[in-house]
Amino acid sequence: MSLTITDLNKTYPNGVKALHGVSLVLQNGMFGLLGPNGAGKSTLMRTLATLQQPNSDLINLNGIDVLAQPHEVRCRLGYLPQDFGVPQGISASQLLDYIAVVKGVRSRLERDRLVTTLLHQTNLYEVRNRAVSRYSGGMRQRFGIAQALIGQPDLIIADEPTAGLDPEERHRFHNLLCELGEDRIVILSTHIVEDIENLCPHMAVLHEGRLKFTGTPESCREMVAGKIWKRQAGKKEIASIGNAHKLISTLARAGKFEVRVFSDSDLNAGAASAGSTSFGYEPVRASLEDAYFNIIRHTA
Ligand code: ADP
Ligand code: MG
Repeated sequence: MSLTITDLNKTYPNGVKALHGVSLVLQNGMFGLLGPNGAGKSTLMRTLATLQQPNSDLINLNGIDVLAQPHEVRCRLGYLPQDFGVPQGISASQLLDYIAVVKGVRSRLERDRLVTTLLHQTNLYEVRNRAVSRYSGGMRQRFGIAQALIGQPDLIIADEPTAGLDPEERHRFHNLLCELGEDRIVILSTHIVEDIENLCPHMAVLHEGRLKFTGTPESCREMVAGKIWKRQAGKKEIASIGNAHKLISTLARAGKFEVRVFSDSDLNAGAASAGSTSFGYEPVRASLEDAYFNIIRHTA
């Protein structure tokens, strides 16, 4: 499987330019699309899911022109939207059966088999008779994946599926996506670095409609390796640290703050001449989160 996106642009009728010249090539496996709220993640995903038209572009899924042949794509696509409503009081088995009918699985026997397989695959078999509207967040997202899997899609698009899940649900959901990525393309959008870190062999950072990075999480981290420094600071110092340095993050810790900054040069070496804002820094191992914050806060 391969998905090629070439120079994708989207301007909404109200003038908001949500995507600027996005180009990407994706292969089988999990692909993480990381970006803050408003970055354009959902816009990109809805466009890939053929639910809205971009202004100019070329999207090609294994030889199919996605925009010219949306129907061909829809047959091969599983889409888990950022927000989806479910009808009240209908059980998971009933709802999956209904969606399978809509997606064209006519044989009752085939549908029964399919629904049972999907319920097992997403670990919902035990709760199959409970109303989906009464599911927990994690169960609901797994149901979202179950419905997306009807029709054996080559491409699965999950838009911020882990938002609001507790750690255990998140973990379970990650495992499910990982299994699915073995023989198809799975695109996961998120604003949470942790979702990408141990899960996605490839990733991109989207910010203000532009792709700011594409590559492996390791190569993303490498961009700031050896350039992240931390120190303890009082609340009042933070503003002046932000003026003197590229602030990456501040973390409250037992009444103090742990401040992390990006710097190309050795902060301690220049401490005597640069004054107090450069004092007391220690170099730290850069994390993917440091790299991400550096991209979205300090990279034009
Ligand atoms: P994300 O999913 O990364 O949070 P979105 O794709 O939802 O980002 O939004 C990107 C930008 O496009 C935002 O500025 C948002 O307000 C705007 N936007 C999204 N959907 C619409 C729409 N239907 N009409 C107008 N503007 C929109
Ligand atoms: Mg979104």
